[in-house]
Amino acid sequence: MKCPPFSYHRATDVADAVAALGAADGEGKILAGGQSLVPLLALRLARPAVLVDVNRVPGLDGLVVRDGVLHAGALVRHLHLAGQDHHPLAAEAARWIGHTAIRSRGTLAGSLAHADPSAELPAVLRACDGAVHVAGPGGTRRLGADELFVGALQSSLAETEMITGVELPVPDAWGFAEFARRHGDFAIVSVAAARFGDRLRVVVGGVAGVPHLVDPGDLATCDGGLSADRVAILAAAAADDVDPPSDLHGSAGYRRALTEQMTARALTQLAGHRTPEAA
Ligand SMILES: Cc1cc2nc3c(=O)[nH]c(=O)nc-3n(C[C@H](O)[C@H](O)[C@H](O)COP(=O)(O)OP(=O)(O)OC[C@H]3O[C@@H](n4cnc5c(N)ncnc54)[C@H](O)[C@@H]3O)c2cc1C
Repeated sequence: MKCPPFSYHRATDVADAVAALGAADGEGKILAGGQSLVPLLALRLARPAVLVDVNRVPGLDGLVVRDGVLHAGALVRHLHLAGQDHHPLAAEAARWIGHTAIRSRGTLAGSLAHADPSAELPAVLRACDGAVHVAGPGGTRRLGADELFVGALQSSLAETEMITGVELPVPDAWGFAEFARRHGDFAIVSVAAARFGDRLRVVVGGVAGVPHLVDPGDLATCDGGLSADRVAILAAAAADDVDPPSDLHGSAGYRRALTEQMTARALTQLAGHRTPEAA
């Protein structure tokens, strides 16, 4: 199917992009890598009047670590994230996204704004308690991962706002596990685990409208280390904590069983994977 008609605006900078979104009166969409938006246009599931192409906006494709936090520009491609070693959890998760062609075009901010509950990078943002920087007509604001994702394919961004950068705190240790039917498919269940000091954060993708932050209560502290027994207890707690839907890809019970398996795998990995600077 062909895309519906739209006007095209190539933004020169962030202010120009925000102004173009404002002028579109709620009918504008940012075009970044196009790896989610263009299929939606082709299927006529989205009909924006204006596409605001931000690919030529300068200064949005950098990566730098400051004070234990990876600061990434909105246009950092999945392939770039996969190839860097400042944030090994983000690198590992990015390697699981689609195929090379998709990773070479798709962007970090595009994935977060699209807010697919099965996508890898939203789970990593939440596991690391990260945040996005947003520019809009009223100025700029910072949105934590807990506020950004509100439902499946729904974020709290206004139609006139643009993500300009992403903050990803670098965990002291990390693990990532995913189950998909074929390599490159979206996850049926994925788990991102991060340890900051003695605090564990475990996030499950694919089991709810937003990446699900497991609430393991007292189990969240990791001061006693992560023995195989403790990994098993935490994995069972994660499976108890999720309330997944049943759909074509699997029943709720199947997803709960996968949550237990993937959590055990991610935590086992975490027990042996320390971020180089923290080693
Ligand atoms: C065959 C296929 C397989 C895929 N497999 C996976 C997978 O396994 N895992 C996965 O996570 N993803 C997968 N994807 C999606 C891919 O990761 C996309 O790159 C990503 O979801 C969107 O990023 P993008 O830069 O392409 O955004 P676009 O498609 O350009 O935009 C997506 C949405 O985000 C908005 N947006 C983009 N940038 C910004 C910004 N800076 N500020 C505010 N809003 C913005 C757009 O307006 C649009 O609504 C797959 C895609 C395809 C086609």
